[in-house]
Amino acid sequence: MIVFEQKPFEEILGYLVHDEKVFILRCKGCAKANQAGGEADVTEMKKKLEGRGIDITGSTIRGLLCVKAKSILSELNKDLVNTSSILVMACGLGVQSLAEVTDKVVHPACNSMPDRESMERGKREHRCGTCGDCVLEFTGGICPLTACSKGLLNGPCGGTSNGKCEVSKEMDCGWMLIYDRMKKLDRLGVLKSFLESKDYRKMQGPRRLIT
Ligand code: SF4
Ligand code: SF4
Repeated sequence: MIVFEQKPFEEILGYLVHDEKVFILRCKGCAKANQAGGEADVTEMKKKLEGRGIDITGSTIRGLLCVKAKSILSELNKDLVNTSSILVMACGLGVQSLAEVTDKVVHPACNSMPDRESMERGKREHRCGTCGDCVLEFTGGICPLTACSKGLLNGPCGGTSNGKCEVSKEMDCGWMLIYDRMKKLDRLGVLKSFLESKDYRKMQGPRRLIT
């Protein structure tokens, strides 16, 4: 389980200002354990966004997004026809899982943080480094902290070769994946945004676990 909390509303609003029609998808997987949970929060988010002129095409709560993103997406196909992007109220893993299976832009509505209890039990996902300030909005739904071997936030290191990471030829270069994804979404311009350095004191544990 990854603990997450909703981002400040104005930050979320900033993500959506260029989108014509937005669908809200809430993961119910960790709802009981997270502050940004439940139907009331989805209703509240919808109301607030509509109040600021965002066209919300629909909303739903489904789970578990981190493991069932593909089937959830196929269930929602009809609802998403007239939608330009999806606002995802879930942990970083849930957002990334959805981004992997959709061609639509996904916006993260939450920040993920370490859950010490789960970590101590060895039960945590390593595609989200639980940095507490999610940047998936700017990287096409692919986490640069875990997809890139060096956790680089502002582009590749220069060691990429044929799409592979210089650390290991077995691994795709995370920044190549991000670039390809942003190109596909026609959002390459977003990569010009400078991402501030992380407060690494908030983060816990390894970024990648190899067993
Ligand atoms: S940027 Fe990466 S590590 Fe930080 S919350 Fe998002 S997915 Fe997790
Ligand atoms: S080659 Fe790519 S994934 Fe590897 S460290 Fe450099 S930027 Fe990161």
